[in-house]
Amino acid sequence: MRTFAQISAIRTFVHAAKSDDKVIGFVPTMGALHDGHLSLIKKARAECDVVVASIFVNPTQFGPSEDFERYPRPIEKDSVLCQKSGVDALFLPTVAEMYPPGSQTLIDVPALASRLEGEARPGHFRGVATVCAKLFNVIQPDMAYFGRKDYQQLKVIERMAADLHLPITIVPMPIVREPDGLALSSRNQYLSPAERKAATVLNQALNAARAVYEAGERSGPAIEMRMHAIVHQEALVQTEYAFVANAESLDTADPVDGSCIALIAANIGTTRLIDNAPLG
Ligand code: AMP
Repeated sequence: MRTFAQISAIRTFVHAAKSDDKVIGFVPTMGALHDGHLSLIKKARAECDVVVASIFVNPTQFGPSEDFERYPRPIEKDSVLCQKSGVDALFLPTVAEMYPPGSQTLIDVPALASRLEGEARPGHFRGVATVCAKLFNVIQPDMAYFGRKDYQQLKVIERMAADLHLPITIVPMPIVREPDGLALSSRNQYLSPAERKAATVLNQALNAARAVYEAGERSGPAIEMRMHAIVHQEALVQTEYAFVANAESLDTADPVDGSCIALIAANIGTTRLIDNAPLG
């Protein structure tokens, strides 16, 4: 595996691969890698000739009171995991490399980014869309792999790639979970043992949403109330939103049908977790 910190250097690497007609697969991450990230890398390895991964904790997607500083950065461990999972090139840019002095261009996907995570984290998706557009321009991949774990992010990136006519196939990947149902997340390591146990309630709430949908419930608010009620049983967890949406537009869905998705965000102590599940 080759490691690059500079845009010019990774460009030279990718350019050489492309002139050999290689298909380039790209997996952007913020590091603290777990099996969710590795599932994306393995899929890219299976589908592409050359796999590029990036690790960049992107400051523009964090709010002023969020965990940018304390976000885990176990770079040596991550580097070994990338190598073992078949990454050919690891891109580790600095903030100054990605945002040189004077940078000011931002990418907005206004409607999709306005609700849910966008409401809770103003500017978050502007930061995500901007850094992904930059990374896509640097790497120029044929395929880019994103987890459904960050479902709204996936939709924002799909929209951005389509709107900007980027010649990139966005590949959505299933959520990887712990055996007890908790979705893997780099932020799970912030949880105390009691919080970690309590965190399974997010997945339980999503399962309950699916169960009432399967039992015939078609009212969005009724399904949302069911999710709130499940999380409410767990004193350590405060729901931020529990929402049933059209899976493409993320608009309110009522009545609900099989193309809808349930999304949840909750705070557990100082840790904020998100999860989602399709209803159909
Ligand atoms: P992050 O490092 O949190 O920015 O995530 C990088 C990529 O990994 C994103 O496309 C995420 O959606 C994806 N990802 C994170 N957690 C999981 C998971 N549990 N299952 C599948 N993909 C995930």
